Amino acid sequence: MNIVLLGAPGSGKGTQAKSLEDAFGIAQLSTGEMLRAEVGKGSDIGRKADEIMRAGQLVPDHLIIALIETTLADGAGRDGFILDGFPRTVPQAEALDSMLETKDLKLDHVLELEVDDEAMVERISGRFSCAKCGAGYHDSFKPPKSDGICDVCGSTEFVRRADDNAQTVRERLKAYHAQTEPISAYYEKQGILTKVDGMGEIDQVTKDLTKAIKTGSRG
Ligand code: AMP
Repeated sequence: MNIVLLGAPGSGKGTQAKSLEDAFGIAQLSTGEMLRAEVGKGSDIGRKADEIMRAGQLVPDHLIIALIETTLADGAGRDGFILDGFPRTVPQAEALDSMLETKDLKLDHVLELEVDDEAMVERISGRFSCAKCGAGYHDSFKPPKSDGICDVCGSTEFVRRADDNAQTVRERLKAYHAQTEPISAYYEKQGILTKVDGMGEIDQVTKDLTKAIKTGSRG
């Protein structure tokens, strides 16, 4: 099964994609995570993307499409995937359709998390994660059970994303509304889009997404 998960920055795409990855045995492919890894390595694409990401803008289509092409060609997601953070523009969505067509594959579901902008600024500004195992936390909504110690692996080191601050979040939301939102209509026309309320508790959203997958238009 091949899924695209759409939603504004902070809507919970990453968290939900991880749950669906486990539940359906499909691979989460996050272009944001791939780019952060490239930035960490100091690769060519990482160097090009770093400043753009810090400014809350979108990395050019040709770079991101090449990244996804290489990822799929390397066999990632061959047993099904959930794309988290890609596509983010209509040309990316069109490029994805062409890529899948050449592999005789198709998208089964496009799920869109509907959220409120202001709540996203609050959600993102407080989030951080364990530097060792990646477990996610939030200053107000989900602090570690023991202050400064990861609940999952016991590490005492945490990291915050360079673009998770209120000012950059507002830029990312602008980019989302201007460049990513038109994708909904693109997939609506194909009859594979389902919108899900992303403002509820994490577990409730996971249940709603799971239901949408099981009962969706091509389900
Ligand atoms: P994310 O982790 O999905 O929030 O992505 C973090 C940042 O990476 C975004 O704000 C963009 O700068 C960049 N990025 C991730 N995916 C894409 C994409 N599909 N197209 C363009 N830029 C992207």
